[in-house]
Order: sequence, then C-alpha cells, then structure tokens
Amino acid sequence: MKFFFPDSQDQVDPSFNFETEQRSALRLRHRDDHYAHEEFKTTPYDGILLSMAMVESGRYTLPQKHRLHRVGIRQFFRLEDKRLETMGDCGAFSYVREDYPPYSVSQVVNFYDDLGFDYGISVDHVILGFDPKIDDQSVPKEWKMRQEITLELASEFLEEHRRRGSRFVPLGVAQGWSPGSYAYSVEQLQKAGFSYIAMGGMVPLKTHEILSCLERVNQSRHQNTRLHLLGVTRCEQVREFAKFGAASFDSTSPLRQAFKDLKDNYWTLDRTYSAIRVPQVQANPSMLKMILAGKINQAEARRLEQECLKALLLFDAARASVDNTLAPLLEYEKLYDEGPSREEIYRETLHDSPWKSCTCDICRKIGIHVILFRGAERNRRRGFHNVFVFHQRLHRELRQEQEAVETLAVGREGVR
Ligand SMILES: [Zn+2]
Repeated sequence: MKFFFPDSQDQVDPSFNFETEQRSALRLRHRDDHYAHEEFKTTPYDGILLSMAMVESGRYTLPQKHRLHRVGIRQFFRLEDKRLETMGDCGAFSYVREDYPPYSVSQVVNFYDDLGFDYGISVDHVILGFDPKIDDQSVPKEWKMRQEITLELASEFLEEHRRRGSRFVPLGVAQGWSPGSYAYSVEQLQKAGFSYIAMGGMVPLKTHEILSCLERVNQSRHQNTRLHLLGVTRCEQVREFAKFGAASFDSTSPLRQAFKDLKDNYWTLDRTYSAIRVPQVQANPSMLKMILAGKINQAEARRLEQECLKALLLFDAARASVDNTLAPLLEYEKLYDEGPSREEIYRETLHDSPWKSCTCDICRKIGIHVILFRGAERNRRRGFHNVFVFHQRLHRELRQEQEAVETLAVGREGVR
C-alpha cells in the first residue's frame, strides 16, 4: 500500500532560529527551503501527488511554474536521489462548483508529459452527493452527468495517452453516488482499458460508506485492476481497503490537522494532543486586528507572549513545573480568546510531553517548539511530524496483517 503525499508548497526554512525567530539574510525560498522529504533521513511517504490546480491556482508563483516546466517534477522537488514516485491529478475539488472541468484532456496530458510524472490521473468531475438508496430513475441529472463527463474524459485521456506514446501510467477516475454507481464507473473504465483506477469524491464519505463502495466495486474488479483512493486517510481501515484492491492513496490530513484542527494537532501512534497556542503579537493577523481595535493592550500582550515562551523553554529543560508553565499561558489566553479555557488539554500535553519520546528528526531537532501553535515554521514542522507518525501507523497496521498471515502459515505447518 503506497502513500502519496500531496504537495501544497508547504516548506520550512532550515535557517530559521527558534530562539531568536530570525532567518538567514541569504535565504532564497525556492533554493534553500526544505520539503518534508528533505527533513527526514527516511522519507515518510512513497511518492508525492501534484495537482494541476495547485500549480495553476496561484499557489505557485510565475517563476516557480516556469522552473517546474523547465526542470521537470523530479528536479523541482529534489527527488533525484530518492526512491519516491510522482503522481499527477487535476485537483477536481478546486473546480467542483463549475459546470465542466476547466482543463482539457490534451492540456492535462501535456502537463504530465512535460513534467515527467510516473502516474497521471484522468480529468474528472466530483459528484457532490451520496445516496445508496437512490435508483437509476430518480438519480439527479447533475450527478449522472458528472459521472458521464468523467467517463468520457477518461476514455479520451487514454486515447491521447496511446496516441502520443506517453510514458506515465494512466489512471482513470471513477465517480459515483452509491456502491452500485461506483461499480458501474469501474466496469466502464476497465472496458476502456484501464487497470489502475482512482476512486474520486470519497473525501466527505463516512468510513462505512467508503467500505460499502469498495466492497461492491471489488465484485466488478478484474484481478489485475488496482485502485487508488483519492484523499482518503483512514489508517485503521487500511487492511480492509487493501483486501478490496486498494494499492495506494493520498491525503493531506496529517499535515493540515497540525494547524487547522481545534485540538487534534500533534499525532502519536495511539492518540492526538492539542498544540499549545502562543500567538505572535507582531505577526498574528487576528491579534493585530484586536490591538488596532483597542481590545488588547499591545505592551501587555507582548509581555505575556514573552513570559509564555520563557516558561515553555524552562519546562522543556525540566526547570519549571506544569502549573508554573500553565499560569502565563492561561493568562495570555484570556487576553486574546474569549472561548472556553484550554487548561485541561494543555495540562495533558505538558504532562505527557509527547515530543520528548518521539523519534522523528523534527522532534529530536527542535524539541518543545514542535508543539507550539505559532507561525508557519513551527506549525508546518508539526505537520511533517504528523506525516511521519501517520506513516508509522500505516506500517504498523500493515505489519499486523503480515504477522497474522505468518502465524496462520506456521499454524498450518504445525498441523502437517
Ligand atoms: Zn516527531
């Protein structure tokens, strides 16, 4: 089971000094900043996924786009000496509100050919709805149309791929609104000639809904047809997914949760912890807004911010207690957040100090800074740590499967 990590240009600056919060004056972002795979001795994923929408939608600057096309995906992401694969897709959720995908088949095949991808996913259109009870007569026209568009574009994509003799492995996308409709898509794609199929639109589905679709799809799946699950992260189900033919998946959740989630920001093998918020008085947008509106006294905020940082560093050096560290944090929190106190979840984080037992390169290098919710340099590194833990969880699940198979084999030997 391969895990592809989607690119969103989340990089970190290796020259960033966590004590002074200064950077090297010579730093050039595109040359010096690190991708997640450059922060770890062992890369915690099998490949990267790059969406055409990510490149075209403004996340990439014009010079970056030019460089990407000039040097190709491997050199751009500095993968030359790494055994990582590359997969391209269109990023269909970015244009889900439009009537028709904004990219043509030839544009997308060009993109995959020019950049030198290992795998390329056909142009698709996400169906925004799921209803297993709906029958063929009552299915909304819009849903059926999006499925047909996706299937037509997939056939066109495969023809274009053959006509040009493209070198990437083509994947067709299956869209659906129920187990039966997903199975129909997979059947059509197999007929068209695909043997690697990406299951699209499953991000909002509940785990049991995904499983019911895969189970049904599995009945129509040819033995050599592999599935890729687009945007699906459910580590606990990975073995079941594999049984139904899933060979790969991608997800940004481990990274995103580090700074988007309200409390599940830091992952460990068995649970999650809340990161500890110490907003930057000078740089945090909502903080600045409150200062400008006169709701917060800037000098007071600055004093508490510094006290929090000092207390946290003392705590990490085992020179301050949990209570003494919590005191300035809670006082600072009262200043900028009227919501419920985070005392209990912070107490847990500090008491367990999970970063101290993490073996990842990030935690070993930056210590307590990994758990501070403060600025992109810390928040992204916590995201990278989560990706590392996610990869470990994934392999733990897969190992259990292997062990079960081996135990069974040994048992049989014994009987003989
Ligand atoms: Zn770590």
